[in-house]
Amino acid sequence: MAKCGVCFRHCELREGETGFCGGRTCREGVVRAANYGLVTSLALDPVEKKPLNRFCPGKLVLSVGSYGCNLRCPFCQNHEISWSAKAMRSALSAERITPEELTALALEYKSRGNIGLAFTYNEPLIGWEFVRDAAKLAHEAGLKNVLVTNGTAELAILAELAPYIDAMNIDLKGFTDRYYSKVLSGDRQQVMAFIEAAVKTCHVELTTLIVPGENDGVEEMRRLAQWVSRLKTRDGEGVALHISRFFPRFRMRDRAATEVGTVYRLAEVAREALEYVYTGNC
Ligand code: SF4
Repeated sequence: MAKCGVCFRHCELREGETGFCGGRTCREGVVRAANYGLVTSLALDPVEKKPLNRFCPGKLVLSVGSYGCNLRCPFCQNHEISWSAKAMRSALSAERITPEELTALALEYKSRGNIGLAFTYNEPLIGWEFVRDAAKLAHEAGLKNVLVTNGTAELAILAELAPYIDAMNIDLKGFTDRYYSKVLSGDRQQVMAFIEAAVKTCHVELTTLIVPGENDGVEEMRRLAQWVSRLKTRDGEGVALHISRFFPRFRMRDRAATEVGTVYRLAEVAREALEYVYTGNC
């Protein structure tokens, strides 16, 4: 039996067993990334799509995803590679790529405006070993690295990656423990601790998806924004918050898309405390 130290679940796995996230497995008595180098998605995306609005604007970033996730958001836009039955099958059709090959590809795209690598689409921290190896090589080649994450990981994992990551977009999906634990199967306290530590290591922007009836209250947004306002980037600037619109997807189709007016109203509430607030999907 071996214990995984990546996230709050601390899955205890027997030889050959796979953890809750589907991306880590116990082999030779150690829990490791089963999804190491297995790529399900690869695209040259605008940096703004991560979303990052205050980091290398107008540039592109070679974005790479694997499979698996340690949350269970019922509305996941990437459920085909995150946590559905199909996501687990996607492992079988994933293409294997080495950190060296990925870095070479990123360099090839440099002439088209590529700044480096973005680890995204599924939850990259459950396969942090590949992120570390590829990001290290990318840095050595003069490229930048971006991490798009749900922030559900121990600080020891952040410490492993911090030397190689230049920017992160981290989800702060709501501001109640109930929403995190009951709806997302997550742990808000772990995410908040991760964000507090991450802002000291690199450029960080945050994203909150507004789901009707779950996290769309004015008071909740006010408390969230006030907490974010106490964070400061390394250069003393405020942290940007992206507030985005929910669409019914995957297992949450029992409600309509968030009213655009609600997103705009909540953005105004956030602006009471924050300098950089952006709306998304509107
Ligand atoms: S990263 Fe995966 S295997 Fe590790 S504790 Fe979290 S859910 Fe379990």
